[in-house]
Amino acid sequence: MDHRGFLRRRADLATAGFEAAESPMLIINPVGEIAVASKGAGILLGMENRELMGMVLENLFVPPSSVADCGKDGHCSISVLRQLQVRNAGGDVIPVEVQCSPFMAHYEGEDTGGDPDRPNHCLMLLADIRERNHEDEMRAARLAKLSLLNQVSEALYGANLSLDQIIEAVLICMTAGQGLRFNRAFLLLVNETNDTLQGEVAIGPSNAEEALRIWQDLADQAGDLFEMMTSYDQSIKKTDVAVNEIVRNMIVPMDDLEHILIRVMADRHVLRVRGDMAMPGVDTMRSWLSCKEFAVAPLTTRAGSIGVIVADNAISGAEISDLDLEFLQMFANQSAGAIENSRLYHELEQRLLDLRRAHQKQKDDQETLIRMERLSVMGETSAIVAHELRNPLVAIGGFARTLMRNLQEDDPNRHFADIISSEVTRMETIIHDLLDFIRPKKRLRKEVVVDRIVAEAADRFQAELEGKGIRLEMDLKTEGKVLEIHPGEIQQVIQNYIVNAMQAQPGGGRIEVRSRLVDGGVRIEVRDDGPGFAKDVGEKLFSPFFSTKTTGSGLGLTICAQIIKSHGGITGAMNSPEGGAVFSFILPLPRSTPTA
Ligand code: ADP
Repeated sequence: MDHRGFLRRRADLATAGFEAAESPMLIINPVGEIAVASKGAGILLGMENRELMGMVLENLFVPPSSVADCGKDGHCSISVLRQLQVRNAGGDVIPVEVQCSPFMAHYEGEDTGGDPDRPNHCLMLLADIRERNHEDEMRAARLAKLSLLNQVSEALYGANLSLDQIIEAVLICMTAGQGLRFNRAFLLLVNETNDTLQGEVAIGPSNAEEALRIWQDLADQAGDLFEMMTSYDQSIKKTDVAVNEIVRNMIVPMDDLEHILIRVMADRHVLRVRGDMAMPGVDTMRSWLSCKEFAVAPLTTRAGSIGVIVADNAISGAEISDLDLEFLQMFANQSAGAIENSRLYHELEQRLLDLRRAHQKQKDDQETLIRMERLSVMGETSAIVAHELRNPLVAIGGFARTLMRNLQEDDPNRHFADIISSEVTRMETIIHDLLDFIRPKKRLRKEVVVDRIVAEAADRFQAELEGKGIRLEMDLKTEGKVLEIHPGEIQQVIQNYIVNAMQAQPGGGRIEVRSRLVDGGVRIEVRDDGPGFAKDVGEKLFSPFFSTKTTGSGLGLTICAQIIKSHGGITGAMNSPEGGAVFSFILPLPRSTPTA
């Protein structure tokens, strides 16, 4: 065999070997056409490798521009590893990794043109990277989810979020595009008061249009948890009415041990319910969710299960993948810890608050006790002093009056004796009222018709009022209500009010005594046509020793308040808009007695 023959033989051998190669390979000629294709290339592109011969490379790659330079000017410009796409005979676009090795080859009778040393052919190695791409996508999704999980755990544990905020964050991460991507999520927690697993909140659109709008809205948002929560506020909040309606109906008794939700809690393991699965409780769940497939994850803490998260893809119908389940489980674990932490934290806060309140109350009680002890000692001392003063006062008063009688009408000392006598009378009134205030009374309560004792008390003043030009009007309307009271004491209050009203209108006028049934009690009031009281003394009226009168003890209203308080009632005073003062008190009705 001559040398040329040897070369041809070698070329045939190389071509045959190339064509039979399982790896996808192409040799491109100087004008960008396929000169030879390997068997592997034919398989990748879905045709016989011989059919590929002569095909223009640009017709194979998508877009054609990605290989526009290939073969032009007699050389190949692709020399590094690149990711391109080819279209196979079936029209599918396949991602491929391409590596080119340019080389020089001469064909007999073919003018290679240009530089004889420049490569004019290209050996193109193709690798199908569909599988690798899928794996990359999975890895990227895993990474994104892990990063979100990390953010969630930092946010849930680090920030001082309320329980509601935590629950909101949990549900957002379940459904957001950057999160677990479930269409809808439902949270159920154990209610220890009635021993049930009860639906709390849910998130998710109620139909496909809403879903599309939200997903489009959220698609461009950055993946930060807090940004997601903000976008949620704007995009989803108003659309989750339907799912919240569903979640409110979700109640499962904790003793229904066979129920799927209770079982998931007991097994502490996530569960995917497929369309053909039959288990107790599954049908109820399907009717609640109107969806055949869903996943349930237990919210498990060290102390036990506190609830479950139910998630589905009811809108898109997408299958719940193993990866989804894996993350749902991880996510549920994080959420359970955060929910439990927040609950414990708030419980602790509440206990601390209760403790502080109890401590403050104890302090207040102690102070009240000390004050009461002091007041009681003061009361006793005052009683002794008052009692001791009474006898000398009687003597002084007696002597002053005797002196007055014995002095001539025009004697200048008569005026002084008169002052002594009236001042002594004033002191006697003060002592009488003071003793009345201090000494405990031991009168028995009895059932009486309220209006009757009010009328009796007012009637006693009839003559005196007439003499002073004051008209007494009675408007008693408690419909014969009977109350258990000290009649004498209550009458003392009414009389005190009437005396004050009388003193407030020395030139005559009108006093009206009214009684009415009010909410939970009986209200008695004494109105007059006097000038009323000054605004700034309103608070002091019922305080001991407050008096605007020259001869007043300032104890009358204090005693009234004390009597009414001992009956469980309240006193009041106001200036009437029509003029005059209104002094009132309300006595409570026994609890079971209706007011009308
Ligand atoms: P005293 O009558 O000895 O002054 P009270 O405790 O009965 O003591 O009354 C305290 C004060 O309340 C009176 O001095 C008066 O200033 C005011 N007050 C009581 N009733 C009336 C009334 N009907 N109109 C205006 N002021 C009144």
